[in-house]
Amino acid sequence: RAKAEGGNRYALADPDSDARAISRHHLTHHLPAALKGAEFFIEYQPLVRMEDGSLEGAEALVRWSHPRHGVLGPDRFIPLAEHTGLIVPLGRWVLQEAVRQACKWQVRGIGGARPLKVNVNLSPRQLHHPELVDDTIAVLEEAGLPPSSLCLEVTETAMIRADENELRPLRELAELGVGIALDDFGTGYSNLANLRRLPASTLKLDRSFTQGLQRDPADPVDLKIVEGIVSLAHTLQLSVTVEGVETGAQAQQLRDLGCDSAQGWFYARPGPPERLPQAV
Ligand code: C2E
Ligand code: MG
Ligand code: MG
Ligand code: MG
Repeated sequence: RAKAEGGNRYALADPDSDARAISRHHLTHHLPAALKGAEFFIEYQPLVRMEDGSLEGAEALVRWSHPRHGVLGPDRFIPLAEHTGLIVPLGRWVLQEAVRQACKWQVRGIGGARPLKVNVNLSPRQLHHPELVDDTIAVLEEAGLPPSSLCLEVTETAMIRADENELRPLRELAELGVGIALDDFGTGYSNLANLRRLPASTLKLDRSFTQGLQRDPADPVDLKIVEGIVSLAHTLQLSVTVEGVETGAQAQQLRDLGCDSAQGWFYARPGPPERLPQAV
């Protein structure tokens, strides 16, 4: 039941909804009060190992429960928070919540022998914030979560724009054992050789590739492209997670292509933390 109906309690970012009409100005103006008033909440979407279908972890996805406009998806307000700088305290809150939650799951033994991981998205502005490393270490220590149980997701586009100074904090965190994922991979224009200089441990293949495999039979060129990316990633010792897996056929195909883990509606929609233990 949870699988089928999981995320349908509300429509996130429905292009036809009235919410579209809420002005950016209005949302931007209300963001600080919303953070103070605890109007944000986090849903978690499972990450599943392809080899055996076991639960590897979950990605934290923030939502805004707006008192007048209902639940707003991150695409509606993250860019505004990024623009105003509120992303820094908001992002810190998400990190703290997600890390605490992961600790609770681990204490309860969710995920079995291998400790469950939590993935948290980072905006470019957070990447440039001087306190990123210290804040992250403090949050992990306060909760008692091992650094290796946290993975920070940074979009490919943000990563390739970053210079060495901006990559250094990620490198420091990676050295402590924190995972770094290249999010939405394939939508930016990485010079593939450049991947070597990034402190990443995982490549998250963008949903658009998964969609390309939807046709039956799948487009042979799409298959070759995904195969090539997976093999390059493995050569660079990056694990590959695929986003947006919606059907069993896609899951099978992506597993055959060598992808290591997957995330998508086929497994589970994002949901409240209580649902994660039964999600997969
Ligand atoms: P993302 O990191 O690429 O997250 C995956 C998005 O794909 C999520 O959208 C998720 O709900 C959606 N998704 C998952 N499985 C499927 C599927 O099978 N089919 C389809 N069609 N979609 C699927 P969501 O929750 O709307 O988040 C959108 C983006 O907002 C995220 O993309 C991420 O970049 C950003 N975001 C979310 N939470 C945070 C946060 O705490 N901080 C920052 N900086 N960004 C966040
Ligand atoms: Mg992400
Ligand atoms: Mg992504
Ligand atoms: Mg994406």
